[in-house]
Amino acid sequence: MPDEVEFARRLRIMVYEGDPFWGNANEIVRLMCQCHANAIRYTGGIRQGLSCYPSQYFPAHPQLGGKDLLGEMVHACENYGFHVFPHIQFLYAFRPEAIALHPDWAAVNPDGSPIKTSYGVGSGLNDGTAVCFNNPTVIQTYARACQEITERYPVSGMYFDIAWRGNCFCSHCRELFFEQYGYELPDNPFINRQHMHDYLHGLHIRGIEKGLKTVTEAIKSVRPIPVIFNMVEANKRYSRHALMNFTDGALVAEMNNGNYMDLLQRVKTGAAFGKATWCYCPITNRSLFRTEDDLDTQLSALTEISHGGTPIIETVRAYLNDQTGVPQLEKIFVLMEKREKLFFDYRPIPWIALHCSAQTALEYGVYDTRSSGAEKGIWDNLYFSGAFSTLIQGHHPFSIILDDDISRGMLNNYKVVVLPNVACLSEDQISVLMEFVRNGGGLLATFETSLYDQGGMRRSDFGLRDLFQIHHSEKANVEYQSSLLMEGPYLRICRDHPITRGLEPDAKLPYYRCGHPFVPVEAAEEDAIVADIFYADGGEYGKPYAYPAGRPPAIVAGTFGRGKYIYMSAALDYLFAKTGLQQVQRIFDNGIEFLTDHEFLVRTNAPDSVVIHFTENKSSRLLHIFNYSGNTLHMERSQLGNIVPLDNLSFSITRMKGKKLGKISPLMGDGSILHECRNGCDDLRLSKLNEYECLLLEYV
Ligand SMILES: [Zn+2]
Repeated sequence: MPDEVEFARRLRIMVYEGDPFWGNANEIVRLMCQCHANAIRYTGGIRQGLSCYPSQYFPAHPQLGGKDLLGEMVHACENYGFHVFPHIQFLYAFRPEAIALHPDWAAVNPDGSPIKTSYGVGSGLNDGTAVCFNNPTVIQTYARACQEITERYPVSGMYFDIAWRGNCFCSHCRELFFEQYGYELPDNPFINRQHMHDYLHGLHIRGIEKGLKTVTEAIKSVRPIPVIFNMVEANKRYSRHALMNFTDGALVAEMNNGNYMDLLQRVKTGAAFGKATWCYCPITNRSLFRTEDDLDTQLSALTEISHGGTPIIETVRAYLNDQTGVPQLEKIFVLMEKREKLFFDYRPIPWIALHCSAQTALEYGVYDTRSSGAEKGIWDNLYFSGAFSTLIQGHHPFSIILDDDISRGMLNNYKVVVLPNVACLSEDQISVLMEFVRNGGGLLATFETSLYDQGGMRRSDFGLRDLFQIHHSEKANVEYQSSLLMEGPYLRICRDHPITRGLEPDAKLPYYRCGHPFVPVEAAEEDAIVADIFYADGGEYGKPYAYPAGRPPAIVAGTFGRGKYIYMSAALDYLFAKTGLQQVQRIFDNGIEFLTDHEFLVRTNAPDSVVIHFTENKSSRLLHIFNYSGNTLHMERSQLGNIVPLDNLSFSITRMKGKKLGKISPLMGDGSILHECRNGCDDLRLSKLNEYECLLLEYV
């Protein structure tokens, strides 16, 4: 990793955000000392089209009264060696006094009128105007202003908040659109899926990408400082993954509320880029003016750090007013300082790879004229979420891999790859996946995986049909569609198989509970069918309903080359995201065992509420263990607090190749450790788990 990335990862950083600008720089620095912070993301850059320092390029913010906000903060931090990251509102709404100087910068409606918005302007104000991200003058002005900041102030990096607003129809946008697609930008592209796709790709995503790239290059031409941007959510549709190619990191978890699983998803996905992974902390919805003395800050921060992220603390304003939460924060920063190497030099041990496919999130189903199951759950990425949750709850160590990782040969480090409805795959990716299984890897895929190419064009059959040993069946599709007029379907276990161990033979899972997205397929081998689709109602009274196509397969499994595969034409990941059904969890757990030939990295008797994460560096490993039993009321604050301590958790750990476990140190030390060697495995027993423990395992 370049130095800028490592530097941005290891910061002990707090956020100051807000206007009017009543914050006193010296007071803020005193608070940073008290908490053991060493960096601040600070308002003093460009806000609402106005500058918070004397600038040649943007007019000064009137609320400043002539103050140089950035200068004051940089100066106050200088004596302590603290780092300042000015906050740039990039392409946000401009206040009236800012847009008045450049009316031609406005993003406009199809009729040419400026787009009014309150977004980013401040509470209660709705007189903002969106600016166009494809206007070269706008981008140039931002680039010069950022260059000006870097030249004039010893800032340590720059942070960009990027607007996601404004569907602009200005002359720049219209011209660009025509250049790219050869047809005029329609006045309402959003009523047609392909037009919407072209608009979002060609204008919005590319426009913002080009803009931020220009600005990043301008900054780096002065000094190689890290540039961090706001990705918002690394795991959702229209995440700005492409911006990671030229920046040093992103805020991947902008969470003011949400649950623990959400946080985990965003941190783990963000960390997959191998860049700085900033995450808001704590995750719960906090008042701007109050702090809390509960475990939320610690659990959020520890989760973020151990998964490769960097907690950024919300918010300085609250801590200036109310010191209640300072001791919790201090604990985190002191730990980060003391254990920096442990937290930041370790990497997840490759075992299972879960694919988070941005190309699928972007392209999936765009050219489909018929409305199919394709749209279901894609906006929230529920297939991915469901697979993610089953892997977490089954305590399977896994890492997220991205689209490019497949072609980069990263898969070879893993035992198993999981493709949660990764609909869009290129021919190249498909051959890598087939080769992976042929050489002994395990593959689990659901629903429409490989049914589309990387650009969203539907294939006539699955790209992975030879591996799955099935084919897409139009006949079954017609019958399935017509059968949906009846009561919803069950998924029925129809064969005794390692995947169905522990389930009743003939068990029926309520597949109707998630709206049953399903691809009708025909399997080459009857023996490969582990579960099928079953209708409880229909047909002759008193007799089971006979599905016209003879009950289509819902899960097939088998071997391919030296490896194994499981394909679920019924989206069980999606069902799990919607219901959390224990039977689904079991199928996934059994499936992973089947695919790994009963090998494992770590096994535990811990309940669902315990999350483990396993990392290594040379000859030592860290087993992070979180207990998030938390607040069952899911109140706004303190979601994670009120932890119920657990006793006697056991962990069986497969040894590092050719090495023996020498020393075990529990870093928190709330409980004691018993160690026993057995069959090439180390059995550990942890006497007590409060909210978090981290076992340092040193091998010799
Ligand atoms: Zn425009």
